[in-house]
Amino acid sequence: MTGASLTLYNSLTRSLETFEPIDPSLVRVYTCGPTVYNYQHIGNMRAFLFADTLGRVLRWKGWPTKHIINITDVGHLTSDADAGDDKMEKAAAAQAKSIWEIAAHYTDAFKHDVARLNIVPPAEWTVATDHIAQMIDFAEKIAPAHCYEIDSGLYFDSSSVPDYGRLARTVSDEGESRIDPVSGKRHPQDFAIWRKSPEGEQRQMEWDSPWGKGAPGWHLECSVMSHEHLGHPFDIHTGGIDHREIHHPNEIAQNQAFCSCGDSGARIWMHNNFLVDRGGKMSKSTGEFLKLQVLVDAGYHPLAYRLLCLQAHYRSELEFTWGNLAAAATRLKRLVQSIERLHSDTIGTTDSATAYLARLDEAVSDDLATPRALPVLEEMIADKRLPAADRLATLTAFDAVLGLQLSSLTRADLRVRPANATLTTEAIDAHLTDRKQARADKDFARSDAIRDELAASGVEVMDGDPLGWDWKLNA
Ligand code: AMP
Ligand code: ZN
Repeated sequence: MTGASLTLYNSLTRSLETFEPIDPSLVRVYTCGPTVYNYQHIGNMRAFLFADTLGRVLRWKGWPTKHIINITDVGHLTSDADAGDDKMEKAAAAQAKSIWEIAAHYTDAFKHDVARLNIVPPAEWTVATDHIAQMIDFAEKIAPAHCYEIDSGLYFDSSSVPDYGRLARTVSDEGESRIDPVSGKRHPQDFAIWRKSPEGEQRQMEWDSPWGKGAPGWHLECSVMSHEHLGHPFDIHTGGIDHREIHHPNEIAQNQAFCSCGDSGARIWMHNNFLVDRGGKMSKSTGEFLKLQVLVDAGYHPLAYRLLCLQAHYRSELEFTWGNLAAAATRLKRLVQSIERLHSDTIGTTDSATAYLARLDEAVSDDLATPRALPVLEEMIADKRLPAADRLATLTAFDAVLGLQLSSLTRADLRVRPANATLTTEAIDAHLTDRKQARADKDFARSDAIRDELAASGVEVMDGDPLGWDWKLNA
């Protein structure tokens, strides 16, 4: 490890802790992955951007890191508290497709978003349905002392571990009261380890088990995949803050049962706060919801969304508005423009960039404070005391943490065509050349008419734009 000691907020203790790896030769991190029944919304992607920043910071500080993200293709019910329908079964029925087709389509879409946001892919994408045998083994081991069987399946007895709900702090049974409570459960917070297929009904995804044909519970899969790929205990487990209430307490209970110890399975449990949209467009049940492609269709580069997320601390709620996104896009354009200038810049003395790197380190080592790292980056790029070549080299070190592709991104890349744009770039340029001529001829009526014509096609002419853009497309 180099530089400042790394402090991370542990949801288990609700406090900042100095991070000490279990094995410094390989830090092990598990991130709860997407349920692939639909596209991920941009709030979901905030969770993966946060986990990516964590992975980048660990590596940047010198620890080799093994990061696992799973793909949930079975078991996640419409209520996190094990009630309702399987999200995958429901989506397959609604779209008249097989579950496998649904899973393949949305897994690919998720991986595409991961790539567009420059999230480092995990060491492995572990797929839940590839681990059914291991889930059954795990369940068999914990069943005698911790589970009971009822008509609907095998359930975990939450009173069989000493401190159930320590992570959540309050035990919530809200999910249970909302959707058909499972009859026969001993405590509201008990949860399914194995869900038996109902008598006379065949599920698209079902497997034989000692408790009959059926499918695993959602919480089981994360315990099993993290054990299998990272061992017990591993260093850090991440997820969105909603998982602090049900999913992660249940994983912890299973881990404790499996190791017959009080150990939660991971040393540190970290949770990102939510991205919120006051317009209600984050919910997947509301038709056209906010997925990354919606931002791209509106003319925004995906990395503008990454920057929007980096501008907020991961533990703060972040409000999504188009205005906030536009501001982040402008900030990114300004950064890219100043970096482009550096390539032709020869000014600068021989001052060292070490102080900037120390400030970056100090910011991200303080519980991943990316909002504080960004102004340091901007200051460094603008610092004429540093040779341009040094600033470009230092930029690479910053970007290893921030992941904004600043060494290669161009202003042309950032000019994303909105999906509803009707004019080609060549046509816009031809109009602008005509307009220039009209202005040279002092024919202002014609120049205004061309501007209005462009505006009617969604093209805004930007005279005197500080970023040097002649026009932009409005969605
Ligand atoms: P899911 O596909 O529902 O399992 O969710 C994937 C990840 O997104 C999980 O870590 C959730 O906790 C997280 N998540 C869900 N909604 C939001 C949101 N609005 N903002 C940030 N993270 C979220
Ligand atoms: Zn999980």
